[in-house]
Amino acid sequence: MTVRLHSTLTKRREELVPGPDGTVRIYVCGPTVYGRIHIGNARPFVVFSVLKRFLARSGVRVKLVSNLTDVNDKIYDAARAEGVPSSELAARYSDAYIADTDRLGLGRPDAEPRVTESVPAIIDMIATLVDRGLAYAAEGDVYYRVARFPGYGRLSGRNLDDVISTEPGAGKESPLDFALWKGRKPDEDTWWDSPWGPGRPGWHIECSAMAEEALGHGFEVHGGGIDLVFPHHENEIAQSEGAHDGPMAQIWMHNEMLELGDEKMSKSLGNIAPLSDVLDRWPAEVVIAYFLTSHYRSRLPFSEERMAEAEGALARLANALRTLDRAIAGGSEDSHDADLSRTIVEGRDQFFRALEDDFSTPEAFAALFEMVRGTNRAVAAGTAGAAQLREARRELIELLDVLGIAGIDPGPADAVPDEVMALAHERQEARTARDFARADALRDRVRALGFEITDTADGPRVEPA
Ligand code: AMP
Ligand code: ZN
Repeated sequence: MTVRLHSTLTKRREELVPGPDGTVRIYVCGPTVYGRIHIGNARPFVVFSVLKRFLARSGVRVKLVSNLTDVNDKIYDAARAEGVPSSELAARYSDAYIADTDRLGLGRPDAEPRVTESVPAIIDMIATLVDRGLAYAAEGDVYYRVARFPGYGRLSGRNLDDVISTEPGAGKESPLDFALWKGRKPDEDTWWDSPWGPGRPGWHIECSAMAEEALGHGFEVHGGGIDLVFPHHENEIAQSEGAHDGPMAQIWMHNEMLELGDEKMSKSLGNIAPLSDVLDRWPAEVVIAYFLTSHYRSRLPFSEERMAEAEGALARLANALRTLDRAIAGGSEDSHDADLSRTIVEGRDQFFRALEDDFSTPEAFAALFEMVRGTNRAVAAGTAGAAQLREARRELIELLDVLGIAGIDPGPADAVPDEVMALAHERQEARTARDFARADALRDRVRALGFEITDTADGPRVEPA
């Protein structure tokens, strides 16, 4: 098996090669915990959790690490506005983040380091950069000396001339430089001592230090939203590759933005739908299908229509499972449908090939739909025995589980699936056209699916047999 992923750094599909001990190590930038996360923030969580599930199912060991940014300006500001200590506000929204993402049912990353628990590693890394002449202390802050790092701008494709740092800083040697350590301001209530005075880490250094602490230098995949390429990931590279030889990560994998009303969903723009609200309205499987029926590198609008489409896609899969359940319960064991066998084998193959090729979850869904067309057809034709159908169902569930949607509810066994309604409708048309042979054949197919058609004065009624 060869997995290829598009890397933002090389702008090509790169082969994913596990590290020396056979593990694929993935670091993903997590949320800043100053409020409930929105459905956009859930996109990297879902994409990278499912990437891990797929790799693990393919026999690859994976270590997935995703941080929580639990100290920064937004957290101080939100805490001040509420009149609570910033540590309390950050702890509350860290818990909320864990609780909200738990509801997706995708499990947790292998480690979720928090900045407030990683300060010694961060201070060590800053000290290394100062020793190497890549950083300097100035008036209680420490800055990265951008002009000293030759590869700066490679990830985002910027020239140094185009880079304008918006970060203020009285003691900066150059406007390009960014803060690694920020000296404490009087009203900041979460801070640490350091060789450069009291303060707290800059945003970018936290990920360099936490990634190295959890995964070592030179891991396989660095992930996050595409909005983080500049300056955050550019700065991470400057820090990590300034402190160590060799690339920070083999592949830089970025999800595109989820949008609401033609703009990136973002707390600062105010156009957000909290993940918890979305999960109150739709089951987790629908939310996951909403994400995965689009490619992670496509922009993704959030809308009622998109959610309805995801619901419809899941309903088709659930209907097929229900149809299988009914046929398995009512069928004999032994007949075998060679076409169905082929469809299942090919579908499974197509499913994994799609995920191996830049994690194409939409094509993986297409493979699932191909498979359920096959099971629906075999059940309607009555050509597959219960043993074969049971095996097909098991295969389907296994693949649904890779995508984290095996928990879909096939619904009550007496609900009438869409394909049965379609057959009943076709029979009615045949009757109207006085094609009774065809109408009878269609009634038999409906019977084979476990339903009976009764003709009433109001038209045909379809019920479980
Ligand atoms: P933040 O808390 O804004 O730093 O975001 C946490 C994670 O969510 C990062 O990986 C971001 O790139 C990602 N993210 C933020 N907003 C969106 C969005 N609208 N669509 C997709 N990913 C996003
Ligand atoms: Zn980060």
